[in-house]
Amino acid sequence: MSAITDLNALRDRLKPSARMPVVFLGHGSPMNALEDTEYSRAWTALGQSLPEPQAILVVSAHWMTRGTTLVDVSHLPKTIHDFYGFPDALYAMDYPAPGNPDLAREVVSLLASHHAAEDDTWGLDHGAWTVLRFLYPQAKVPVFQVSIDMARGLAHQLEVGRTLSQLRDRGVLILGSGNVVHNLRAMRFGGRPHDFALEFDGLFADRLEARDLQPLADAQGLGTLLRMAHPTVDHYMPALTIAGASDARDALTFMTDAIDLGSVSMRSFIFHA
Ligand code: ZN
Repeated sequence: MSAITDLNALRDRLKPSARMPVVFLGHGSPMNALEDTEYSRAWTALGQSLPEPQAILVVSAHWMTRGTTLVDVSHLPKTIHDFYGFPDALYAMDYPAPGNPDLAREVVSLLASHHAAEDDTWGLDHGAWTVLRFLYPQAKVPVFQVSIDMARGLAHQLEVGRTLSQLRDRGVLILGSGNVVHNLRAMRFGGRPHDFALEFDGLFADRLEARDLQPLADAQGLGTLLRMAHPTVDHYMPALTIAGASDARDALTFMTDAIDLGSVSMRSFIFHA
């Protein structure tokens, strides 16, 4: 199926809309879903200020695949409690939003050159639902996840974002959920931020503001600093997807830029009209 045909099919399924923002949220601990924190309050406020989407496409740090990009085509994505040792109340939480199988299948076509395939086994992991329950507490807007192909490099996620960005004109909110700095081995309770955390977080924000995205996807150029900020890059990848889905027409707004536990950046950002 050609790209033009895919786009025509999408036009039938989704009404044209004012260009939707793209959003990256630093999700941090699953406990943010349970507690009233500066983050959960910011997510609530953001949800109230965003235009109502026709669907939400989520790229979460917690759905990693290798050699393929999977798209959840289920009718009712299940809530996944993919964490251990947390209070029972967190396991009892549910985010019962419907999926959007038709749109999800179109996304498989759009991402065909990224080895995309349909999946009906995943659902909504905690990277998705712990923030969605504040953004859209009624769980009425259809939502589905797209996985991250960890076999490909950082620049690949910029490309995925670029491909997905056409959905912004069809009422789709593209939401990335991860952390701009995420080194759980270096966490320190009550400690001040590590220098590497401040440095990587600052560098990321500066390059994003300058729309100089390529250096952010250059693992070799980022060198040791990247390896300190991200011993594994899963939580970094969604930030690149969202950067890739932005363009020069967008304004950039940062929110919640604290470094938690010394080595987890809670920086979030929105590209918008
Ligand atoms: Zn996480």
